[in-house]
Amino acid sequence: MTSLRIHLAPGQALFLEGDPPTTAFLIEVGEIEVSLRQKGRRIVLSRLGEGDLLGEMAVIDDAPRTATATAVNECVLIPIDREQIAERLAKTDPIIRSLMEGQLKRYRGALAAMQGKDHRALDAADTPSEQVGIGKIRLETHLREALNNDDLDVRYQPLLHVASGRIAGYEALVRWTHPERGPISPMEFVALAEETSLIVPIGEYVFDTACRAVQRLARIGAGNELFIAVNVSARQLGHSGLIERIVARVDAAGLPRGSLKVEITESQALDYDSVATLIALCHQHGIKVALDDFGTGYSNLTHLYRLAFDTLKVDQSFTRSMLGDPRSMAIVEAIVRMGKAIGAEIVVEGVETDAMLDVLRRLDCDYAQGYLIGKPQTLDELLAKS
Ligand code: C2E
Ligand code: CA
Ligand code: CA
Repeated sequence: MTSLRIHLAPGQALFLEGDPPTTAFLIEVGEIEVSLRQKGRRIVLSRLGEGDLLGEMAVIDDAPRTATATAVNECVLIPIDREQIAERLAKTDPIIRSLMEGQLKRYRGALAAMQGKDHRALDAADTPSEQVGIGKIRLETHLREALNNDDLDVRYQPLLHVASGRIAGYEALVRWTHPERGPISPMEFVALAEETSLIVPIGEYVFDTACRAVQRLARIGAGNELFIAVNVSARQLGHSGLIERIVARVDAAGLPRGSLKVEITESQALDYDSVATLIALCHQHGIKVALDDFGTGYSNLTHLYRLAFDTLKVDQSFTRSMLGDPRSMAIVEAIVRMGKAIGAEIVVEGVETDAMLDVLRRLDCDYAQGYLIGKPQTLDELLAKS
C-alpha cells in the first residue's frame, strides 16, 4: 500500500530557508522546530506539534521558505498540495484574502528586518487580490458615507395592471451616484452591502423613503389603492423588528397597510424557515409579499409549497427570450399556470415591447413591469405626471 504520509527521523530537515514553496504540511505525530539563521546564529522561531500546520505561508504567497523546519523526534506529516490550498483561496472573499496577504507581507517584513535584510522589496505593489479586496473595503466605506450623508436615492418603476390598463403601483429601486465613479449599479453595491449588515440601514432608508413617497402620491390623489413594493434581501430577514418598524411607519403616516409590499429576492440561498416566518408576520400585519426573480438563482421547488407568498415575479431573463424561442415561451406559460394554481398574482418583469405585453394579456397575467410601461423615475417625475 502506498502512503501519502512523510516520515522524518530526529534531526532530519523537512525544508530549508530559501527552498521553493511546493507543499504545506500537517503534523500528525512528533514535533518540528522552525528556525532561521541570523548573523551565523540559529534562532528558533517556534516548536510545532500534533495538529499544527506548517509551511503554508510560502505556499500562500508563492515565495521562498523564510525558515528551516527540522524534526525534533520521529515525525509523521501529511503533505497538502499547493493546488489544494490555491483552489480554496481563489474561492474566498477578496477582503479576507487581502487581509491575509497584508498580514503575511508584514510578517515577512518583520522577519527580514530581524535578519538585517532589505525588507523594502517586500513592500512591493499589492497583489491583484489585495487590490480587489482593498477596492471593496473602500467602496463599502463610501457607501456608508453616502448613507449617512443622505446621498442615496430611490427611483420608482411603474407596474401596469394588465386587465384595466392602469398603473397599480411602483417598485422602489435604490440608486447611488458615486462622487468619482458616477452611477453604480445596485447589482454591485447591494451585493456588497449584503455581505455585511450594511444592507439593514440601507433597507430602512428605502422603506422610509418609499413610505414618504406613497404619502405624497396619496395626498395629490394619484390613486388611493397605490402600492410601492420594496426589495428585501435575505440578510435583512435575520434582523428582528424589521416588519414591526415598517408597520409603525405606515401607521404613523396614516396609510393603508396594503400600500407597502415586500419583495423577497431569490438570488441568495433562501433560508426557507426565516422567509416563511417573515411572510406570516407580514400577513399578520396586512402586508403582501412577492417572491422576486422567480426561476433564477437558488429556486428550489421542494420548499415552494411552504412559502405562502401573494405574488410571483417572473424574471426578465424569461421575458427576453420568450418571443423568439418556443421552449422559453412554454416555460413562461408553465410558471404563470403554476403561480395561478397556488393562488398567487403574477408580475412579469422586463416587458419592453407591445408584442410582449400581448403575450401577457393572452396568458392573463396580472401585472406587467418594464421599460414599455415606464423606466424607474424620481418621485418628482411621478408627481409631475400625476
Ligand atoms: P430587481 O428587483 O429584479 O429589479 C428590477 C431591475 O430590472 C431593475 O434594475 C430595473 O431597473 C430593471 N428593469 C426594469 N425594467 C426593465 C426592462 O424593461 N428591461 C431591462 N433590461 N431592465 C429592466 P436595477 O434598478 O439595476 O436593480 C437591480 C437589482 O438590485 C434589483 O433587481 C434588486 O434585486 C436590487 N435592488 C434594487 N434596489 C434595491 C433595494 O432597495 N434593496 C435591495 N435589497 N435590493 C435592491
Ligand atoms: Ca424586485
Ligand atoms: Ca426582479
